Amino acid sequence: MAGLHDELRYTKGIGEARAKAFSKLGIHDLAGLVSFFPRAYEDRSRFAKISELCDGDTVCVEAMVHGSPTLSRIRRGLELVKLRAADDTGTLFISYFNQNYLKDVFKPGESYVFYGKVQAMGRAFTMTNPVYERLSAAGRATGRIVPVYRLTSGLSQNLVRSSVRQALDVAGDWTPDGLPDAVARKYRLCSARYAYENVHFPADMRALELARTRLVFEELFVLACALGLLRGGREGQAGRVLARAELERFTASLPFRPTGAQLRAIGEAVSDMSSGRLMNRLVQGDVGSGKTLVAAACVWYAAQSGAQSAFMAPTEILAEQHFATLTGFLEPFGIRVAKLTGSMKAKEKREVLAALASGEVQLCVGTHALLSEGVAFRDLALVVTDEQHRFGVQQRAALAEKGAAPPHILVMSATPIPRTLALIIYGDLDVSLIDELPPGRQKVDTFAVDSSYRQRLNGFIEKLVSEGRQVFVVCPRIEDDEEKPDDLKSAEEHAAALQKELPELRIGCIHGKLKARDKDAIMAQFSAGELDVLVSTTVIEVGVDVPNAALMVIENAERFGLSQLHQLRGRVGRGRHKSWCILVSDAKGEEARARLSAMTHISDGFKIAEEDLRLRGPGDFFGSRQHGLPELHIADLGADMNVLKAAQEAAKELLEADPELAASENSKLKERAGQLIAMSGGRFN
Ligand code: ADP
Ligand code: MG
Repeated sequence: MAGLHDELRYTKGIGEARAKAFSKLGIHDLAGLVSFFPRAYEDRSRFAKISELCDGDTVCVEAMVHGSPTLSRIRRGLELVKLRAADDTGTLFISYFNQNYLKDVFKPGESYVFYGKVQAMGRAFTMTNPVYERLSAAGRATGRIVPVYRLTSGLSQNLVRSSVRQALDVAGDWTPDGLPDAVARKYRLCSARYAYENVHFPADMRALELARTRLVFEELFVLACALGLLRGGREGQAGRVLARAELERFTASLPFRPTGAQLRAIGEAVSDMSSGRLMNRLVQGDVGSGKTLVAAACVWYAAQSGAQSAFMAPTEILAEQHFATLTGFLEPFGIRVAKLTGSMKAKEKREVLAALASGEVQLCVGTHALLSEGVAFRDLALVVTDEQHRFGVQQRAALAEKGAAPPHILVMSATPIPRTLALIIYGDLDVSLIDELPPGRQKVDTFAVDSSYRQRLNGFIEKLVSEGRQVFVVCPRIEDDEEKPDDLKSAEEHAAALQKELPELRIGCIHGKLKARDKDAIMAQFSAGELDVLVSTTVIEVGVDVPNAALMVIENAERFGLSQLHQLRGRVGRGRHKSWCILVSDAKGEEARARLSAMTHISDGFKIAEEDLRLRGPGDFFGSRQHGLPELHIADLGADMNVLKAAQEAAKELLEADPELAASENSKLKERAGQLIAMSGGRFN
């Protein structure tokens, strides 16, 4: 018999081809099967007597076969095995299509359990293609709660079930469990062995519930420990005390009055930075709520103490734009701002690096380039990251290491993340919510249309441009390996088609094949009003600010997630002008229609994020890997909020007692947390 960690192809009933199929699911040995959790369950535990059956019921019936099954050919390629089975209350007629061998399987006088959907035919009942087991050997596929697994071609539910069964039998008392006993006891969780057995083959609903709770706790606990290790216990750490400064001197000079919410967020951040504790603050606010100003105020504040700040943006275009905005806010105060991006010339970079090291420059705005080796600050006191969800926890940590002492951290997120996710991703960051938009903002009217509106849409674009406005058009990104459906236009093709329709307009296009420098140049032209229409892929998704843009057209809108659509829509309606968002889609699917319709009547980013989570499920939220977090296998963030809180509390407590997980009883946990971090491409310290 194969061992737990032997390759699967040596396992009975699996072999070469099936082992390959399993490996597509990420399963390479029996141990992997033990933690291959079912994606659903089918409750086949309910039995009924034939006289109690109702049309539409799905139940188990225990019945004896009467007479020999008959085989009839209805037409070519459609053959039917029919049999009659009865209990002491009535008769059930059963048919199987195209499974001729069954004619010889069912023996008259023998009893079976049949599980399937009941149909009433006059006064009689029938089942078509029911699952069956001989009564004497029943209990695997009928009469119980049966696990349903994710499959790939070459695997059947039955094969996966029996392989998992085998794995559990070989595993005996071994489990991949990472939960220390003391924690399991404290939170009254069932034993690991019981949990792994019952999550696959639950004795009943109660057992399944106990098993799931334990495993969800375990998964979230290991994740919380991994994140805790990565953060390296920044919480509660002493932080540099920045001298208090009169914020009025900064805010009074602005071209507009900060909103109450902006002032509150600024106040909270500067009080953190003067408190003696290290700041770990998330500023969360919908697109257009004015987060950049909050960052600028913090940079100004740090500069009053003579300290430096770093500001990290996820793309070159954004870094460019923030550089311009922040320079505008800060240079009047004599604060020098530099820029560092990957596409800069080596000579320019060297000059910036020298200015950072000497302290000549007080703020450096940049991309991931800020993380590279050789970037060193003279006196880094504050790190701001924009659109934080694009950065992993570990990147934030890497940036924090650029200072001699750990710097204060301010993260800004425009993606309104549902509370459950925020708790995991940001752990114990303090949160400032900007829940107020600058005055004069108007709702962006949103419409979902199909391509029969093309003519009218082009007319609308022309009209707006004639009024002096600008227009964004976004096309989905097409992956290289993707077979391109006919109706899916690349940004380039779309721009060319549009130019033909509207020859008078100045149309620019940003697409994946352009160099960063060229993208920036086109973006700059658009910002300066030298282009009327900008056609692009999603490079403009986050942050880009062109207040004169009044229309956002999104082509093949069904290809975008809700939160993404919301981000895109946030690119317009930022100035004084009435703005529109038009979602173009010919998709007929129910889910796609529901998403587009949600966009037309919801404008609040948080509500959209929640709707997104509901429609897509949390798996996808993580699946996109935007968070730098590993995929969850069993926890459901929509449903397991309470377990999440308990698991985080437990992880915090454990890490306080054993910050490096050095104790021997925590070794398995340390190993699993390490695997998680390795899988998410991070560092483990
Ligand atoms: P986001 O939160 O999406 O990053 P920005 O910081 O880019 O938002 O701000 C969006 C726009 O609103 C910018 O043009 C900015 O200058 C402007 N703005 C910010 N705060 C205010 C305010 N208090 N009053 C008026 N306009 C503001
Ligand atoms: Mg922004």
